[in-house]
Amino acid sequence: MQTKPFTPQISCADDVDTESIRVAEARQRILASLTPISDYEKLPIRGALGRVLHEAVISPINVPAHINSAMDGIALNSKDLPTSGTQTLDVIGTAYAGVPYRGECHAGQCVRIMTGAPMPQGTDTVIMQEHVESIAESRVRVGLQHRPGQNVRQIGEDIRKDSEVVKAGRYLTPADLGVLASLGIGEVKVRRRPRVAFFSTGDELRSIGETLGEGEIFDSNRYSLYGMLAQLGVEILDMGVVRDNPEALRESFLRAAAVADVIVTSGGVSVGDADYIKSILTELGEINFWKIAMKPGRPLTYGQLGKARFFGLPGNPVAVMVTFYQFVQPALHYLSSGSVRLPLTLQATCTSGLNNRPGRFEFQRGMLTQTRDGHFEVTKAGKQGSGILTSMSHANCFILLAEDCERVEAGDTVTVQPFAIYI
Ligand code: AMP
Ligand code: MG
Repeated sequence: MQTKPFTPQISCADDVDTESIRVAEARQRILASLTPISDYEKLPIRGALGRVLHEAVISPINVPAHINSAMDGIALNSKDLPTSGTQTLDVIGTAYAGVPYRGECHAGQCVRIMTGAPMPQGTDTVIMQEHVESIAESRVRVGLQHRPGQNVRQIGEDIRKDSEVVKAGRYLTPADLGVLASLGIGEVKVRRRPRVAFFSTGDELRSIGETLGEGEIFDSNRYSLYGMLAQLGVEILDMGVVRDNPEALRESFLRAAAVADVIVTSGGVSVGDADYIKSILTELGEINFWKIAMKPGRPLTYGQLGKARFFGLPGNPVAVMVTFYQFVQPALHYLSSGSVRLPLTLQATCTSGLNNRPGRFEFQRGMLTQTRDGHFEVTKAGKQGSGILTSMSHANCFILLAEDCERVEAGDTVTVQPFAIYI
């Protein structure tokens, strides 16, 4: 009997894998497949913090609206500044912020003025308190070295009327809220937040509160996913755990696609007997790619299901977080704002020796610290297996070992990508 020769299939564990695409290409293909959200809603400015501005804000006024003092001191006409020696002046009144001095200031006179107070008529220059010598009850002396027009804030110096103050597509920051308030604007149009439905897949998964049977584990991916989504401020739809059962998965896929802009699942994307995600997405939707030359996170199924974009993340808890930060987060930013927002990267001295297999992009977990002289140092955060979630919990950054990097020696400079704001 003749036996057919066994031809092994290309696998995620192989060294050379021609079906994998590179990290940068995966990100590009994802971004190219997205159409940013254009629906919007009106919100009071406090509620708009962190949201994306729908249309540019044009200033209805000048800020400041009136010429005012930048210092506590005296306001005078620059013609009264001495050109040699000193000059004495009569103090004829006081101008406060919110309580202007209504009279006019003539030659040889000055007005005591507080920061923010409108400049009295006849004055154009302020001399700070510390440079004014008091010589009698209402008489002062000033010296040289003052410049005409100094310490005065001009109309529209900060914001000109009719100018664009905040651009469309911008994520509103605390400073933006302040700027909007300074214009008297109480409400803005912001884009609708992306709706993200997510669920975990796996027969072994139990939810918190349930008792673990033999071989069962608690579902942790839904919690780390929840945390990362919540930090992005998107709308979240937690669909729980779905069993490795094609019928149940089909039903969940369709339910999610009916309501969400983006669907994120974890697990079931490898080639095991219970890995159905890829085949069901092929059946109900369309696959864009399903393997990336990276570690961890190689099997990642990306595609479309109805109008929704579908991320089938791997099941391993570290891989879920790595792939979320590298692909799902930029996708959600692009959907929200129409602009590409990539994670910040820094150069740091690595205190550990690291290995990578060329041709594959590795994301190691690291602990980034800043030395006393301001330099960044990074140390590998313990064991790097893709199931070791504590390595993510102890880490505050990824150490990026790009496709062309084979080995890092202790003391080498590496690129890191912080995922925590504080170190
Ligand atoms: P899979 O991709 O489904 O083969 O899962 C890969 C590994 O990740 C297996 O060890 C799973 O038990 C584990 N895993 C899958 N989903 C989860 C989850 N939601 N929480 C924790 N571990 C998971
Ligand atoms: Mg599974």
